Amino acid sequence: MTTPSRITIIAGNWKMHYGPRQASRFASEIVPELGLLVHQNPHILSILCPPAISLSAVCEVMDAHLFRGIELGAQNMYFEEKGAYTGEISPPMVRELCTTAILGHSERRTYFGETDEMVTQFPAQHVKKVVVAYEPIWAIGTGKAATAEGAGNVIHLIRQLYGEMYGSEAAAALRILYGGSVTPDNISEFVAHPDIDGALVGGASIKSDFVEIVRKTIEVMQQ
Ligand code: PEP
Repeated sequence: MTTPSRITIIAGNWKMHYGPRQASRFASEIVPELGLLVHQNPHILSILCPPAISLSAVCEVMDAHLFRGIELGAQNMYFEEKGAYTGEISPPMVRELCTTAILGHSERRTYFGETDEMVTQFPAQHVKKVVVAYEPIWAIGTGKAATAEGAGNVIHLIRQLYGEMYGSEAAAALRILYGGSVTPDNISEFVAHPDIDGALVGGASIKSDFVEIVRKTIEVMQQ
């Protein structure tokens, strides 16, 4: 991910919504407004993560608007470069269009049996590029978000543990997002918390609510 330090990240995980045509229509609805918002604020990065089959369609919409500050992410990838892995996409394939890939989402673990071992098959030098999303499972898609204070406490602990493994400089630079039922109504308290570096948004990212979430994040950042 091409992020300068202390940047706030709002990523939208579209999950299994919007094939290429619908994705193109939806991206055309949100990208111009989103682009204007993030263009005016160099400290925010917005990442759209449509299904793999729709990445090219969304990429075309983004290219047409040429805004800085919106990037494309894949929802998953397999760690091998190429080969007989039917249905998978590899890091080099993802890199052709995306800056980011979500790995180890709890839905991948629950429905597709992914494990920590599979998710961590990347060379250690990539650790510095990692953005962590803390997502309490009970908050994903339930409408019951954590409190900013509760999420902030856990994120503080994650940063401490990361510091013990990779050093304090790496820990200070690590971006840690909150995810779980984020909406335009609760985003402000999350991004106002000093330990929380942004949000991974699921359900609200496939509606115009996503633009509202980015707008509210910028409002907090400007306070
Ligand atoms: C997610 O899928 O990562 C997520 C947080 O979903 P939701 O915002 O719908 O809870």
